[in-house]
Amino acid sequence: RRVELRTQRDLASQTSDGHTVVLRANIATPADARAAVDARCDGVGLLRTELPFLDAATWPSFGQHTAALVPVFRQLAGRPVTVRTLDYADDKLPPFLRHEGQQLGRGLPLMLAAPEAFTDQFRAILTAGAATDLRVMIPMVADAAELRACRELLDKAAAEIGVTSPPLGAMVELPEAVANIDQIAAEAGFISIGSNDLTCQILGLDRRDPAAAPAMTAHPDVLRAIAAVVTTAHDHGLQVSVCGDAATHRDVIPLLVGLDCDILSVAPSAADEVRARVRSLARTRCAALAADALACSTIEEVRQLLEAVAPTPA
Ligand code: PEP
Ligand code: MG
Repeated sequence: RRVELRTQRDLASQTSDGHTVVLRANIATPADARAAVDARCDGVGLLRTELPFLDAATWPSFGQHTAALVPVFRQLAGRPVTVRTLDYADDKLPPFLRHEGQQLGRGLPLMLAAPEAFTDQFRAILTAGAATDLRVMIPMVADAAELRACRELLDKAAAEIGVTSPPLGAMVELPEAVANIDQIAAEAGFISIGSNDLTCQILGLDRRDPAAAPAMTAHPDVLRAIAAVVTTAHDHGLQVSVCGDAATHRDVIPLLVGLDCDILSVAPSAADEVRARVRSLARTRCAALAADALACSTIEEVRQLLEAVAPTPA
């Protein structure tokens, strides 16, 4: 089946009724970038930049960021590349932040408390990514003021280098971001839903817990959050991507398509399966399914709906 799917890589990522769902890649390394291009992904929806620096002893320098980024960008000239800034979240804190983190908080507040380090990364992204269709994405955004602060640092770095400032997007992966989506969307160039963290946050699950699987994104409380985010972002004329692992989950894809998510960003190794899944679906059926799912009160009810629409293959 894998071989058969490989031969279908040049088919459009489109539903049977002609609705395009853009397929992008989640990557971290030059090899991933190569795989994303081979799998005919429309560029990169999530480049995770913290992974080379999880054991860092200090903030990565401009030179260190550049050295990590250049070989990745080299594979992606002319393509959309969405670079996420350092996501030093709870489960990804390098040694030098483990104590400081207590005082400074986590994630984005931590970065905003270190504006020089943040600016070094922006400068490296802008310089190394100049030949790509660059977008910058901020993880763990809670409110619009944070995104505005990021925008100011990015604009300043771009002006210093003499390049135009690229679109700046917000990841929605905290319940606060869902609550503040109207104000965030007013500041943002695009929205990307981090369904891994968002699902755990909404349902009170631990990310290391096996029950925190992508399948849980089908919980109606999570679906209602995604629906609100998509509707509001679209009202602001923004595209919405989903870059958590739910975007590769067979049963969740019809729900995401039905909720009108524009882009699915997935591991390159999953792209063939996701494209085939999208091609097997009718958008009108997905929209009806999603509407029914939003009215459910338990995930079991959502699963029964899914079984009725698309029985799990034997
Ligand atoms: C997410 O939270 O869904 C996400 C894409 O980010 P990460 O998995 O890197 O936390
Ligand atoms: Mg996340």
